[in-house]
Amino acid sequence: MAGRPDPILIVGGGLGGAAAALALARKGFAVRVFEQAPEFGVIGYGIQLGPNVFPMFDRLGVTDAVLATALRPQAVLMVDSVDGGVVARIPTGASFLKRFKRPYVVIHRVDLHRVLLDACAANDNVELVADTDVEAFTDTGDRIRVRTKDDRSFEGAALIGADGLRSTVRQQLFNEGEPRLIGYVAHRTIVPMADVTFDVDRDNVVLWSGHGFHIVHYPLRNGTLFNIVTVFMTSDDAKPSDTASPHPDLAHVYRDSHPTMKALWAMMDLSRRGWVSSDRDPIRHWSKRRVTLLGDAAHPTLQTLAQGACMAIEDAVCLAELLAQTPNDVSAAFQRYQRARYLRTARVQFESRYHWDNFYHVGGIEREVARQIWSVRGEDEMFDCLAWLYDGFAIPQAQGAAA
Ligand SMILES: Cc1cc2nc3c(=O)[nH]c(=O)nc-3n(C[C@H](O)[C@H](O)[C@H](O)COP(=O)(O)OP(=O)(O)OC[C@H]3O[C@@H](n4cnc5c(N)ncnc54)[C@H](O)[C@@H]3O)c2cc1C
Repeated sequence: MAGRPDPILIVGGGLGGAAAALALARKGFAVRVFEQAPEFGVIGYGIQLGPNVFPMFDRLGVTDAVLATALRPQAVLMVDSVDGGVVARIPTGASFLKRFKRPYVVIHRVDLHRVLLDACAANDNVELVADTDVEAFTDTGDRIRVRTKDDRSFEGAALIGADGLRSTVRQQLFNEGEPRLIGYVAHRTIVPMADVTFDVDRDNVVLWSGHGFHIVHYPLRNGTLFNIVTVFMTSDDAKPSDTASPHPDLAHVYRDSHPTMKALWAMMDLSRRGWVSSDRDPIRHWSKRRVTLLGDAAHPTLQTLAQGACMAIEDAVCLAELLAQTPNDVSAAFQRYQRARYLRTARVQFESRYHWDNFYHVGGIEREVARQIWSVRGEDEMFDCLAWLYDGFAIPQAQGAAA
């Protein structure tokens, strides 16, 4: 269908914004996406995707393209940073597929973004506008106007803030200030698999948990690349504006850790500060009239459950579906959307915090207790714990429609 005259404006062309653009375009809405960066989709590094996101990919028509570049690990393992013993194991092979119907995959973020952006480019309803930093919006009652930092303005029927953790749209809606800092920083790096010469699991998602730090690694792109994320407590209050890298003495942080863990952090490029870990408290209301939020802008979470991007993509598909159900009442659709999404995303935020503090980073006897609790859990018990998340999300039906 040709684009409707009044586009829906999306601020932010990350995974959430791109998914929202595609979802809306497939429903026949004209969409204009503004991205502050000079190009869309350039942020690298790996990403894990749970089975819950695949029904969303089906609706976006991109499942095959995603699977073509993704890898399917056989397990997600948590191992002890000191002795390398398995603390918890989630099998992600045949039994997982049988239980959750859809796979657990790892994929290069650039590849996932490419799939979404290519699908957007192939749809006449989407206009991608790079190098455009949105500074403010005005809700005139029946329309939205946005103003960019370089003083351009654009108008549309509605506005979706998919502009991430430090969302400008959210700041204008709620004036809450900075997100909550938790005193950890994350560094991500990708190296050729051929450079990984020490003894390490190259096939699975492995999380080394320690007192005040963790490392996650997994293969990418057919096993040719190795993705490593190190996260550790900083000695000071890490600020997002810091560009230097005032690390704690890492040799001290990792002094008692397993030789593999030491070899892993030795491979990291730590010359830059990395991602300052932060989140916000969940909120119930993130829409006002013709303006709403999506993804990290709406419910920023710690990465403990590896679900931030999955939640953004679930948001995107849900939002497009609800808007298509009442296209002439944007405000009602946005209210229904936040009602449908806030509890699930809040649970991800709360559980991520809980496991960050009580499972990932504990030391001493607490670590031994955590290990005792988790190491005896069998496959079915693990799957049951994850069912609320991995069984997926039911998008509300049109009001009055048969269930
Ligand atoms: C270390 C780490 C590991 C992670 N691992 C996983 C994982 O394995 N699985 C998973 O599902 N999630 C993971 N996440 C979370 C995931 O990265 C985020 O939740 C997800 O990227 C959020 O997508 P988004 O589109 O909402 O926001 P973002 O990806 O932050 O995109 C926002 C976009 O908006 C643009 N923007 C911002 N302000 C403006 C403006 N004023 N004007 C125009 N454009 C603007 C930005 O440039 C950016 O492109 C991880 C996060 C971290 C930090």
